[in-house]
Amino acid sequence: GTNTTISGLGSSFADELSGLSVPWQGAEAPDPELLALNEDLAVSLGLDVAALRSADGVAVLAGAEVPAGAKPVAMAYAGHQFGGYAPLLGDGRALLLGELVDADGGRVDLHLKGSGPTPFSRGGDGFAVVGPMLREYLVSEAMHALGIPTTRSLSVVATGRPVYREGAEPGAVLARVAASHLRVGTFEFAARQGEVVRALADHAIARHYPDLLDLPETGENNRYLGLFAAVVEAQASLVAQWMLVGFVHGVMNTDNTTISGQTIDYGPCAFVDAFDPAAVFSSIDHSGRYAFGNQPAVLKWNLARFAETLLRLVDSTPDAAIAAVTAVLDSFDTRYERHYRSGLAAKLGLPEGSLDQTLVDDLLTLLEEHNADWTATFRALADELRGNPTPLDGLVPRERSASWLERWHAAAARDGRAAGERAEAMDRVNPLYIPRNHQVDAALKAATGGDLEPFARLLDVVTHPFEARSEWSEYSSPAPRSFAESFRTFCG
Ligand code: AMP
Ligand code: MG
Ligand code: MG
Repeated sequence: GTNTTISGLGSSFADELSGLSVPWQGAEAPDPELLALNEDLAVSLGLDVAALRSADGVAVLAGAEVPAGAKPVAMAYAGHQFGGYAPLLGDGRALLLGELVDADGGRVDLHLKGSGPTPFSRGGDGFAVVGPMLREYLVSEAMHALGIPTTRSLSVVATGRPVYREGAEPGAVLARVAASHLRVGTFEFAARQGEVVRALADHAIARHYPDLLDLPETGENNRYLGLFAAVVEAQASLVAQWMLVGFVHGVMNTDNTTISGQTIDYGPCAFVDAFDPAAVFSSIDHSGRYAFGNQPAVLKWNLARFAETLLRLVDSTPDAAIAAVTAVLDSFDTRYERHYRSGLAAKLGLPEGSLDQTLVDDLLTLLEEHNADWTATFRALADELRGNPTPLDGLVPRERSASWLERWHAAAARDGRAAGERAEAMDRVNPLYIPRNHQVDAALKAATGGDLEPFARLLDVVTHPFEARSEWSEYSSPAPRSFAESFRTFCG
């Protein structure tokens, strides 16, 4: 039949890059039911909300029907997983349905996750289940509301298919929207195929860093070295934003590191309550490779793997290529530090440049010593400026915070802003509501059992992260200690 729910889907990735994808189609959905639809996002993509809600629309979002004219593919990629190289991963349970143009005129991918087995499924069943797909929907939309670059979520459809995990669980498909699905792992795969890596790099440049097209293809300041530098910068900025909001990605394999600089793959992610560099939530991260405080270092490691795929494009002389990418990779630490420090200055209501290292170190030490909730601390500091010491006293005893506060006030005084104005500025960058692990857990459990109400409410809260509302007070508290001690995430 001809399903006209979504028209005009492009296929530039599949058309331009041979050997990096396989034409494929989703499995059928026995009894599809729309659980979540992001109407604002749909409208921004020029999609017809009523059509998406119709039976034809839900069939497309479930992967069971292909829109007329679309050429869905499963994408090939490789990746370093927990440090070990896997030469062929690919979309084992996902499809690139096609490309759309967003409100800003940029090309975006419409992608389905959980749509059934593909040639890349290896041992997996090709499916996904309701809880984890709703988790990705919720956390990615929260990240977007926090202003952090991320893939977006268009919908979650329950398929009516039982999928076996611990026991039978309801199957689901997530429709994801991304600037692209190009990953470091895509380059790792392409580089081992041969010349296609150049076409892939050109495709990535045209799509994400078009200014680089002005640079020559060879020579000292060539566009491929430029691509590497652009990705290093985008990812240094991204991981700084994760660190500032307390986000633990959980599975930072190179196949989950994007070329666009967007956060991707919300499998085992979580947020820290107390500041704790050693925090690990993922049930499979036994060594703490992807611990909260290790994220910048492991990101840099992933970028080194990216650099290796570009060597032949950067310079035909291997030693010169290595020297050139190494110089760029070495800039990661200063780039990261710059983003982190300017973000932290804003969180503390301080003018840039007035944040000295001991002020930062002493704050982190205080918070770690007292197990103070990271998110609540910055809102409490703004309250402190408004003359309300109670929230901060609930986090760190006054006799321990007093001398640090004195130095903070002195640093703040340098730009002469009034305390009230400073507090307002802080509240605009410090979220009151993040997806708290215990709240997410409860909402997903209810949704899996058929009650979507807690999920809808939590989604409303976390997509308005800066907006204090008295009826939302329960959402700003950290998890009860008993929950936090045993909380683990799974890849889903
Ligand atoms: P991830 O850890 O989510 O980044 O996934 C790593 C790889 O495992 C990717 O190639 C996925 O497509 C694949 N994968 C994950 N879950 C499944 C599944 N249930 N069936 C098939 N492939 C899967
Ligand atoms: Mg992944
Ligand atoms: Mg995943």
